Order: sequence, then C-alpha cells, then structure tokens
Amino acid sequence: MKRINKLLRPNILALKPYSSARDEFSGSASVYLDANENPYDTGYNRYPDPYQMDVKKRIAEIKGTQPGQIFLGNGSDEPIDLLFRAFCNPGVDNVVAIEPSYGMYKVAAGINDIQVKSVLLNEYYQIEAKKILEATDEKTKLIFLCSPNNPTGNNLNKDEMIRIITGFSGLVVLDEAYIDFAPGTSMLPDLEKYPNLVVLQTFSKAWGLAGIRLGMAFAQPGIISVLSKIKYPYNINALTQQHVLKMLETKEQKDLWVKTIIDERKKLAKELEQFNFVEKVYPSDANFLLVKMKKAREIFEYLMDQGVIVRDRTKVALCESSLRITVGSPEENRELVEKLKNTPPAP
Ligand SMILES: *Cc1c(COP(=O)(O)O)cnc(C)c1O
Repeated sequence: MKRINKLLRPNILALKPYSSARDEFSGSASVYLDANENPYDTGYNRYPDPYQMDVKKRIAEIKGTQPGQIFLGNGSDEPIDLLFRAFCNPGVDNVVAIEPSYGMYKVAAGINDIQVKSVLLNEYYQIEAKKILEATDEKTKLIFLCSPNNPTGNNLNKDEMIRIITGFSGLVVLDEAYIDFAPGTSMLPDLEKYPNLVVLQTFSKAWGLAGIRLGMAFAQPGIISVLSKIKYPYNINALTQQHVLKMLETKEQKDLWVKTIIDERKKLAKELEQFNFVEKVYPSDANFLLVKMKKAREIFEYLMDQGVIVRDRTKVALCESSLRITVGSPEENRELVEKLKNTPPAP
C-alpha cells in the first residue's frame, strides 16, 4: 500500500478541520457557556458528542476492535461518500468496483465526478483477483467489494479478496452490510493485518435499525482520522447515539432475529424452488434471495398488485430475469408463497 498521505487528495491533506466548541473542551463541567445552546433542558438542548466516544467504546467491545479503528456515519452511505471525497481527485482519479453490486458506489462516484471501472463477476457470482487487479491503473484509488454481495446474496471468495487487498496500492473497501447473516466470514478480525482495508458494516439490516441511520467503517486509525476530519462535526445526532447504546445492550435479540431469518431463508428457498416458473434460487449468505424465474417482470407486477413488494433486478447485469426477495417474518413469507401459488397462468 502507498502511504496515506500519498493517497490523499492534496487539499484534504492540507485541510484544517472545523473546530467545534465541544472539540475545545471535552469532559464534564457545571456550566456550559461555550456553544450558544439554549440552557433550558429539553433533553436535547446540548450538541451531541462529535466523536461518539461512548458508542464507539461499546461497539469496539462487541466487535473486538479499538475505538480508534471506528468511524460512525449517517448510514454506510456517509463513509462511502467521504472515502471518495478524501482520496479521489474529481475528474482525475478512478475506482474499481464489482458488478453487479450495491448501487451507491456508482452514485457516490458520480456525485464526486469519479469514473467507476466495473469488473463483472463470473458465472458463479464470484470475483477473480487477477481480473480486478488488471482493471486498476495508477489513478485507481479505491476498490469496492461487497460480501455477502447485494443483489447476488453470496459471500465472495476470501482468498481472492486477500489477493486483491495485498496486491493493490490503494484502499480496498469491503462492504459487509449483511455479514451477520454469514457468521464467521467477516474480515474484521484481519483488520490489523491489512493497513489498506476498510470494512463497512451497518445497523440497518440485522440490528433492525434502518430508521436511525447509523453505519460503521472500520480501518486503521490513520484512515479513520481522515474521515473524522472531513465529516460534518455533529454527523450522528443525540437520539441516534442514545438509542443505539440501548440496543447494543440487547445483542441477544439481534442474534435471535438473525437465527430466525437464516432458518426462514432456507425454508423459503425450498418453497420457491417448487414453483414451475422458478428457474433458480441462488445460494444466499444474506437476508434475501435472488430468484431467477420465467416472466419475472410480470410476477413482480402481479405481486405488487397483491400488496407484496419485492425488488425487480431484471435490468441488472448478470441478474436478467431475477427478482430479489427479502426474507421476512414467517407470516410474511407464508403470504408471499400463497400469493405465488395463485399466480395467474401465462397467457
Ligand atoms: C443495505 C446496504 C447498506 C446499508 O446502507 P445504510 O446506509 O447503512 O443503510 C450498505 N451496503 C449494502 C451493500 C447494502 O445492501
């Protein structure tokens, strides 16, 4: 890997960050007259901790990392955008990403005027390190991987990922939004080994907290401090910080949900395979199934008329004729299957 200062955009390297009132003084005092806040207690009259130290300490314990290896953002989308803004010179640099994958990498790249070089997965939806490394050039700053991948649902091959990480001089961003549904496969335990690895996780899926908008980036402290330097000072609001601290104390509930969803995933896959219009249910390490079927668009529309909304992926590369179906509660999955049994015959 290149030195971080070499990878950074020169303006970001030179940037002096905004210093908030809560930067100048941290600790506790009896009278706060430094931030022009309203002194009357509404529960939320004070600015929140800009570095979310209490939340990071708790996450660090649960994840087995150091607080200094954690960045918290307004969803995973914030660290994705900040990585572009920190490392990619608009109109000059590029990134490499697997295809098909999560749509936000391309959107964030577009907003930042950065070219995305897409590398198609193979027929098993797997990566080939050689192909991905060959797509890079001296202007490539980031490589985006996603495991388990969205919308294909499968884990990427770990040996190939390691070849990419060790063979690339920029940063490798590995999106693990669905990692709770693929136990034992996270690369987080390998963070210390790979100084150019950034692992993204989120509270939006397994933790059941999509509404509070909280995403995590894990990386060596040198990378984390760059993201912290360029974020909005109070990017994580007080409500979100309080609520996630409470939810982190009920990790057993999350583990139970995950177990149920994994069981349901297996059951639903079997049931879907029975339908004569279903051509393939792809193996899934996530909380959704990618299902290839005849007349996928018609079935998508039929289900929508019935009040069951799934995701049409028929226009996505390598996913032609496929729908992406989130694994719901047992009742929801039963309803889906019942509706599919009554699919009107094709004209
Ligand atoms: C759902 C999802 C996320 C989560 O995004 P948030 O902004 O944290 O809600 C990230 N990456 C992938 C691949 C996803 O599918």
